[in-house]
Amino acid sequence: MRAHGSFYEQVNRSFDRAAALTAHDPRLLQQIRECNSVYYLTFPLKRDDGSIETIHAWRAEHSHHKLPTKGGIRYSTHVNGDEIKALAALMTYKCAIAEVPFGGAKGGIKINPHKYSLAELERITRRYTFELIRKNFIGPGVDVPAPDYGTSSREMAWIADSYTTLKIGEINSLACVTGKPVAQGGIRGRTEATGRGVFFGIAEALTFKRDMDALGLSIGVDGKRFVVQGLGNVGSHTARFLEDSGGVLVGVVEFEGAISAPGGIRASDILAHRERTGSILDFPGATNLPRREDGLEIECDILVPAALETQITAENAPRIRTKIIAEAANGPTTDDADEILRQRGILVIPDTFLNAGGVTVSYFEWVKNLTHLRFGRMEKRFDQRAYRRLLDVIASRTGESIPEEEAAILTHGASEEDLVNSGLEETMALAYRRIREIRNRKDGRADLRTAAFIDAIDKIVLCYEDLGIFP
Ligand code: NAD
Repeated sequence: MRAHGSFYEQVNRSFDRAAALTAHDPRLLQQIRECNSVYYLTFPLKRDDGSIETIHAWRAEHSHHKLPTKGGIRYSTHVNGDEIKALAALMTYKCAIAEVPFGGAKGGIKINPHKYSLAELERITRRYTFELIRKNFIGPGVDVPAPDYGTSSREMAWIADSYTTLKIGEINSLACVTGKPVAQGGIRGRTEATGRGVFFGIAEALTFKRDMDALGLSIGVDGKRFVVQGLGNVGSHTARFLEDSGGVLVGVVEFEGAISAPGGIRASDILAHRERTGSILDFPGATNLPRREDGLEIECDILVPAALETQITAENAPRIRTKIIAEAANGPTTDDADEILRQRGILVIPDTFLNAGGVTVSYFEWVKNLTHLRFGRMEKRFDQRAYRRLLDVIASRTGESIPEEEAAILTHGASEEDLVNSGLEETMALAYRRIREIRNRKDGRADLRTAAFIDAIDKIVLCYEDLGIFP
């Protein structure tokens, strides 16, 4: 156990702080806080060289107040039961905050995926899926995994294939997992969804002049200097969307070290350099920092931790030089660091809200799989014709014809990706406004993290009250 308490204890402390600001029955709050089921399993892996290795894995379903439960699967040597329970709990609150109708879950396999061949990874993933099926820990109405740290659409494709192979005739079987490749029932926009959602969340926070005045920042993303820790799926897409809106990337922290570039660098160039050389270090125009940890202390407006939990601690929080911490990763800030950041007036946009874009678009994918219909398929051409008729009427009434290039933009009917991105933006913007309003109503007793927990608790309590278990 770490000095600042285990990850799960930290999540529960955040929960308790919020719960104390509500008037709900303490017995009900206790029920909401607990992890409903945890499955720990081991299985043998036959390695390519013929040797046998024991694989340790978990799946935790934190809350069954709504079904299915939902949450990613992580491949990392850090994986343990406490971490998976903490991440599953965060998923419960995240789903409530983003208003997606799931309970929280999380899975993990304790491996370094870079140390296994593709064939070995496939065997591990398929065996894990079979074990989950055996114990009823996976299914479209039961528990629906998704990608997380160390996994991608590739692993989700293996999971979907293993599940559908065993569940012949189960018409909704593809909805057993999300984050799949589009050709296998996935949805356009899922890969970048978490990063895009992080961007929407930051952009929304930056629209409030009063909040920005308090930080000494102007409104809007344009010109803001940001640092990203972890240029993986979430970090790289977040960086790209911030750059597209005029944000300036001034530092990157990766596994192998950290670089600083006050004049600005582009995430895509760093990734290309890393692909070529195997490292982000020695990037032309940037300076290597002595230690990886120094990267979190680069001066900037927005620090985006997008790697793993427990990165901003009581030890480094006093030295962090940013106005905003945008928690793209799950649990990057420890509880005691949070307190230091609060006192230093740094705005923390919490993980339970900020990285909800992944599960939001996973929800759209799940709905798509259950309806067996691609979003936009029915209305796209109908809308295009209606817009075209409207333009024709305007042109005939005014006598002014609209240039074809402009007309093409105005008559564009929404594609699946347009609708996914629109639904994601709406979800993130509304959720931010809601938690900000709760924070403001609590007159300084709640920060955004506590406000987000209060929002989640209120919504989950309503579900239990509807069940009549706790009158
Ligand atoms: P990923 O595996 O694609 O990327 C993680 C990156 O972090 C890698 O590039 C890795 O090298 C780097 N990294 C690892 N340890 C590091 C360290 N100590 N310092 C700096 N960099 C380090 O993972 P991801 O899917 O982008 O997930 C990142 C975080 O976002 C995790 O906390 C995950 O739970 C969270 N998250 C992911 C999703 C999703 O849809 N993938 C959704 C919600 C939350």
